[in-house]
Amino acid sequence: MSNEYDVVVVGGGPAGYPCAIRAAQLGFKTACIDAWLNRDNTPAFGGTCLNAGCIPSKALLESSELYHRMQYEAAVHGIGAASVSLDVAKMQARKDAVSRQLTGGIKQLFAANKVTGLQGHGRLLGNGQVEFKSHDGQTEVLKAKHIIIATGSEPINLKIAPFDGARIVDSWGALDFTEVPKTLGVIGAGVIGVELGSVWNRLGARTVILEALPNFLPMVDQQVAKEALRHLTKQGLDIRLGAKVLSAKAGKKDVTVEYETGGEKKTETFDKLIVAVGRRPYTKNLGVETVGVALDERGFVKVDAHYKTNVPGVYAIGDVIGGAMLAHKGIEEGVALAEQLAGHHTQVNYNAVPSVVYTMPEIAWVGLSEEQAKAKGYEIKTGLGPFAANGRAKAMEQGAGSIKVIADAKSDRILGVHMVGPYVSELLAEAVLALEFAATCEDLALTMHSHPTLSENFHEAVLLVDGRAVHAVNKPKK
Ligand code: FAD
Ligand code: NAD
Repeated sequence: MSNEYDVVVVGGGPAGYPCAIRAAQLGFKTACIDAWLNRDNTPAFGGTCLNAGCIPSKALLESSELYHRMQYEAAVHGIGAASVSLDVAKMQARKDAVSRQLTGGIKQLFAANKVTGLQGHGRLLGNGQVEFKSHDGQTEVLKAKHIIIATGSEPINLKIAPFDGARIVDSWGALDFTEVPKTLGVIGAGVIGVELGSVWNRLGARTVILEALPNFLPMVDQQVAKEALRHLTKQGLDIRLGAKVLSAKAGKKDVTVEYETGGEKKTETFDKLIVAVGRRPYTKNLGVETVGVALDERGFVKVDAHYKTNVPGVYAIGDVIGGAMLAHKGIEEGVALAEQLAGHHTQVNYNAVPSVVYTMPEIAWVGLSEEQAKAKGYEIKTGLGPFAANGRAKAMEQGAGSIKVIADAKSDRILGVHMVGPYVSELLAEAVLALEFAATCEDLALTMHSHPTLSENFHEAVLLVDGRAVHAVNKPKK
């Protein structure tokens, strides 16, 4: 087979593999090189998301939620579940099987769309050439008109708390615990910290999350974030804000963490410690220096609005270019780039990127928070719809949480929707659509929602913005 391609994508995660598929659909001869190896040395497409991120974490979140709810919520429904047992090995095997099914699916999609999937390492050589080295050491040089860097990111390894793979672990290590630690420390109350902290807390680990910042989830509307923090704390997660970790030392049996809070130094000992302080771009051994691809001061590949790097014919997408490090943002960039290469005008709307934290209740948001809207100079109006007043949530015994709508007081346009509550990850899509279509509160108020559904609470929150809700108490008009 000829080694000449129209498009070679380096990286087969959520940014790279959809880009390759869409490029092939648009008639480009396309190859996708991916280096991922799982713990058992099996290669798998899908990158961090499918192998060690979104999917395995959601599988464990689902299992641990079921375990928790059977123990603590079944009784109120009149269901006795006194002797609920836990088989961590089986839970982990299910998680791995879910990932395997999905990563196997990518191979099928490549075959169906005529993408050449190459499993091994890719390195840019310059002059439109990419070296591919397979896992068994065979090398070949591919030529391509368009080379796309989609090599993703890796966890930040703190010097003060270096990963040792046993006591001090990154998110991948935390997804693979073979037993429930008695005590678990987590550095960072970001998305990974609260999701993986939740998993092991629900399964029985006494979990302490140490967060340097004074506010919980500062990117979320603080009224909503504070409500979320209350619910998570009630579940037993010990989230300590304003607690900056200074050092962590692993011993044979445990790990001792020193942190500073309120001007005082404190220590605490845990069986395991998860370090979840963010991720950084991954460009190791990619040849960016050889080819002269410009990186910014934090190591992200610099691109223009069309994902072009400074080197003609070389593009970059996904986590490696920064912005929100989210799978769906990478997918959209991959598809947009493939379509742009084919002459289409596809663009990604970075003002409507949805975010979700898959805790219990879930936290989900799109667009501006009240704080962000005010900082941008908007005169705003808001509505806060509590799930406690929602019939479906009541029937589900899931009345915790609320939906907040932030709108421009002058134009009535919805600027942001921030939520905490049951399955709000699914409700968020309507809010994203509202932002995408520049909908006003009036547009949403006139949109019928089926009864009884959780989605009615979004409708209710919109009605509350203008004090015309029927099922909740409206704020008195000033
Ligand atoms: P990656 O998924 O990192 O893929 C890059 C691929 O490139 C990898 O397979 C890598 O092996 C390969 N590669 C690197 N260098 C080379 C090379 N030189 N040659 C060949 N291949 C190479 N996001 C969400 O939207 N929702 C979630 O619920 C969510 N949960 C997460 C949970 C965890 C625990 C973590 C860690 C992340 C989570 N994320 C989530 C973030 C999400 O995983 C990333 O944003 C997403 O995977 C980024 O996609 P990407 O394609 O840019 O990079
Ligand atoms: P993050 O940036 O979300 O959070 C890291 C936290 O660590 C910050 O709040 C920071 O203040 C804190 N921190 C840093 N140093 C500290 C110290 N010395 N002591 C105490 N706290 C400290 O990063 P993350 O949680 O590692 O997640 C990485 C990326 O993965 C995120 O960009 C996220 O978007 C993505 N992700 C997304 C999902 C999802 O969409 N559900 C799930 C997991 C991960």
